[in-house]
Amino acid sequence: MRFEDLPTPCYVVDEGLLIKNLEILNGVMQRTGCKIVLAQKAFSMSTLYPLIGKYLSGATASGLYEARLGYEEMGKENHVFSPAYGENEMDQLVTICDHIIFNSFSQVEKFKGRVLAAGKKAGLRINPECSTQEGHAIYDPCSPGSRFGVTLEHFRPDLLDGISGLHFHTLCQQNSDDLETTLDAVEEKFGPWLSQMEWINFGGGHHITREDYDIPRLEKCIKRMQEKYGLEVYLEPGEAVALNAGYMVTTVLDTTQNGIDIAILDTSASCHMPDVLEMPYRPPLFDSGEVGEKPYLYRLGGKTCLTGDVIGDYSFDQPLKSGDRLVFGDMAIYSMVKNTTFNGMPLPAIAIKKQDGDCEVVREFGYDDFKMRLA
Ligand SMILES: *Cc1c(COP(=O)(O)O)cnc(C)c1O
Repeated sequence: MRFEDLPTPCYVVDEGLLIKNLEILNGVMQRTGCKIVLAQKAFSMSTLYPLIGKYLSGATASGLYEARLGYEEMGKENHVFSPAYGENEMDQLVTICDHIIFNSFSQVEKFKGRVLAAGKKAGLRINPECSTQEGHAIYDPCSPGSRFGVTLEHFRPDLLDGISGLHFHTLCQQNSDDLETTLDAVEEKFGPWLSQMEWINFGGGHHITREDYDIPRLEKCIKRMQEKYGLEVYLEPGEAVALNAGYMVTTVLDTTQNGIDIAILDTSASCHMPDVLEMPYRPPLFDSGEVGEKPYLYRLGGKTCLTGDVIGDYSFDQPLKSGDRLVFGDMAIYSMVKNTTFNGMPLPAIAIKKQDGDCEVVREFGYDDFKMRLA
């Protein structure tokens, strides 16, 4: 199918661009000997897991369902971290996961025995209390009062027996200078215990596949932990795996005016690209400009009845009209994993653009997908 013939709304993942990212990540693995696993929270398009598994070491999960998906569809190294595990999750997790990472010593005490009895690795998430990001407090696990990771004050060396690795996750869309700063804090606070570990997990939030990302500095950070403490190093990026590797194709349904020209699309910020409102951010849109850049300005709005369901203001070379197709960029990550059928919005189809340009719709959704999750 041609790109122009895809149904809308539709998420399209560009296989060639995904492979480009995977090659960059695989290069880091090759040069340093570190292991990189996909954080499924950002991108859970399991049709592509066999492809991703050719380049990466495996997957990580935030709970039983993601862990099952990684186990069933990628079938490589499988990790899980959860702020707290339920009693009912652990028996299954220890059969399908290789690394089970705990967020507290009480969870360690409760479940460590089962993890070790199953021959799996138990890890602990630490909180180095080193904020390196500004602006997005909801994405800063080092913000005051954060529920993520054990701080030095609550660290219990007496309970480390059986813990083979430490995990931290403190970054969000950041470069390797912030990783370096974080590693300094990790060493300063938790250095005394690093040599007794087998592995360290640097978490996610590394924007490795972004153009200006400093990969040599990342590799220096990895080697530092490998050489100084003899640790195996893991990274678990989500965003970086499918960064800029997908689109959201949508159709203009109508145009109206209210002080500004408005276009209503067959997509929705709140249902199909919730991070636009939650983060918030302005998604890139092909063939458009900033306000004032091109002659025709429109406020692009969603099809729900939520007043705030607005994607943003964009300018165009030509007036928009009903039937026009618009293509938003960077829509592979934190998009389809977060969508909802709020207000009875249909879920976008999910498609792949192959390397030869041919497009294939992998999945379409309908009324039943809205009805079945309510009662
Ligand atoms: C969200 C998350 C990731 C992935 O983060 P990205 O910003 O998508 O790279 C990795 N590890 C943990 C524990 C996470 O919560």
